[in-house]
Amino acid sequence: MSKIVLASGNAGKVLEINELLSDHGIDVIPQTEFDVPEAVEDGLTFVENALKKARHAAKLTGLPAIADDSGIEVDALDKRPGIYSARYSGEGATDTKNYEKMLAELKDVSEEKRSARYWCVMVYLESENDPTPIITQGSLEGRILTAPKGDGGFGYDPIFWLPEQQCTAAELSMEEKNKISHRAIALNALARKLTSKMI
Ligand code: IMP
Repeated sequence: MSKIVLASGNAGKVLEINELLSDHGIDVIPQTEFDVPEAVEDGLTFVENALKKARHAAKLTGLPAIADDSGIEVDALDKRPGIYSARYSGEGATDTKNYEKMLAELKDVSEEKRSARYWCVMVYLESENDPTPIITQGSLEGRILTAPKGDGGFGYDPIFWLPEQQCTAAELSMEEKNKISHRAIALNALARKLTSKMI
């Protein structure tokens, strides 16, 4: 089985990514197992940040690496918070503080102008100096509600309305979310490219 390091210690991500790739003879190991500290995310795009994270993990482990970077863009906020989604409410940011700040910023914005989407970029690097990384992306379209609804998911999910499903992302089961999410789309695309590269 070939080994790939995942530039994240998030148990949910490790599980989701392993589930998809283990069928293809790929074993994904979180960077925390190699005591790799988190990379500095000072890029200006999801792609730059994902590349930085993957390169950092590949450099410190000598293994091929996968990294992702994700966030939410809101049209009425000129596509903010984007790459700053996790730290939107500043020092000591929490999921609740972040979405409360978003609701406050959007309080005078009418329903039809509350469009938003989640983005996820996935990167695979064969080595630290791989000049041809595999890069894929996925998005999930939604609308920002005026109050939270549902208590599943994480991040902005309680205020992220999915018109097709007629519920918020926080009201989906993890299984349902993993079928439609920006992360699942990017990850499936990465798995396809990766397995065709390895055959
Ligand atoms: P990261 O890529 O795991 O660092 O995620 C960045 C931030 O984007 C998270 O902390 C959340 O605020 C937001 N985010 C990314 N994906 C989701 C999602 O599926 N639901 C809710 N929030 C998300």
